[in-house]
Amino acid sequence: MAGNRTLTIIKPDAFNSGKAGLIVALLEKAGFRIVASRVMQLTEKQAGAFYAVHRERPFFTPLVRFMTSGKCMPMVLERADAVASLRKTIGATDPAEAEAGTVRKLYAESKERNAIHASDSDRMRSGRRGSSSLNPSSSKSRNCKDDYRRAALGGPAGGRGLELHHDRP
Ligand code: GDP
Repeated sequence: MAGNRTLTIIKPDAFNSGKAGLIVALLEKAGFRIVASRVMQLTEKQAGAFYAVHRERPFFTPLVRFMTSGKCMPMVLERADAVASLRKTIGATDPAEAEAGTVRKLYAESKERNAIHASDSDRMRSGRRGSSSLNPSSSKSRNCKDDYRRAALGGPAGGRGLELHHDRP
């Protein structure tokens, strides 16, 4: 069964140009509820870990530079079929290919500076409060793109930061 929570990040391009409110409004109009949110600036280490799956790609270094260039706004969103619904709401990676009305079509500057991140897997719902899956060195999280991404938001010295884990019934 698809989970009902997912992670998104309003990226520095959109946050710094005052688009956060517009993007949140669009997300809420699409039926998402904000469960948790914070404003933060990623360190190089956090951004590198977050995008570790792209480490070999030519755009990795500029991507990390971009993601650390200013404040961003991670949020946990809730909605039925959250991951797929959010991917549809944000649109294609490249705004030139994104559908009309999507976040990226409306607010992204380029394929790199594309306004918003959305998780591409449902792994987040397997998290538990205080779960070791938030620790990037945990064997549970190894090779899991989204666990690395969550871990990057945990704050210094493994601090919990944004509540990205779930209380499951
Ligand atoms: P997403 O899931 O749609 O965000 O896309 P990916 O996980 O494939 O890529 C992560 C992020 O890397 C994207 O959101 C872009 O910011 C950036 N990116 C992806 N592909 C490219 C590319 O071909 N060129 C550049 N400059 N950046 C890219």
